[in-house]
Amino acid sequence: MLYLIGNWKMAPEKNIQVIDLVKKTNEIAKLYKKSITTIVCPPAVFLPIVKKNIKVPLGIGSQGVAASDAVAQTGLISASMIKESGAQYVIIGHSEMRARGDSNANVKDQLTRLFEKKLTPIVCIGEKTRDEQGWYLSEVKDQLETVYGDLAPLQAKKIILAYEPVWAIGAQADRAATPAECREMTIFIRKFLSDKYGEKIAKAMPILYGGSADEFNAKSFLEEGTADGFLIGRVSLDPKRLGALAKTINK
Ligand code: PEP
Repeated sequence: MLYLIGNWKMAPEKNIQVIDLVKKTNEIAKLYKKSITTIVCPPAVFLPIVKKNIKVPLGIGSQGVAASDAVAQTGLISASMIKESGAQYVIIGHSEMRARGDSNANVKDQLTRLFEKKLTPIVCIGEKTRDEQGWYLSEVKDQLETVYGDLAPLQAKKIILAYEPVWAIGAQADRAATPAECREMTIFIRKFLSDKYGEKIAKAMPILYGGSADEFNAKSFLEEGTADGFLIGRVSLDPKRLGALAKTINK
């Protein structure tokens, strides 16, 4: 099973647009349900309206969670609230959250909150820049060590991991990663997971690619890049392109 996870970020703006987008995404999820698990992650304020309009098999996730349950955290939402909203998944470690202050330690605490509430973590990792010497690999290794450090296989297996090179994300990115760059990293990550949990478990853990993925480059990320699906931003807001991307993945 491949994954297609849409991170809507801070869009759309209006209820009516949200309802329209969910309905169109419902259709796409239904069409490709045999081969793709499709999930949408709307802004938190829209979780209830998305929940009301969502149809099986489309999944719903939050774009973040507070690292602790302390009430005095203006602007944040807790894992209990997310659970109450009906969401099943939560994105943590996204580079845009890290840029606003989330450290590896925060991400680890958030992960713990999610396991406590039986929510499925979508954990983003990825280097800020690349260099000729391969130092970027140690940045990713640090992220992996923080996330998986003390995790038993049973919990580790529940994580959906998204490799998102920060330099390839969003409208300001120069380019997507190449499938070869993606492949190098999925091999690196799988080796880490395999050393820790054994080959059989590591092979079954989904590693998605994110960063300017679209209907044109998706095929090569799956085949050459060995990704198990995608975390997407911009394309998730455009049902036509999302449909085309799902069709490509399904092939
Ligand atoms: C993202 O924000 O996680 C992302 C991958 O965005 P985009 O697809 O727009 O590059």
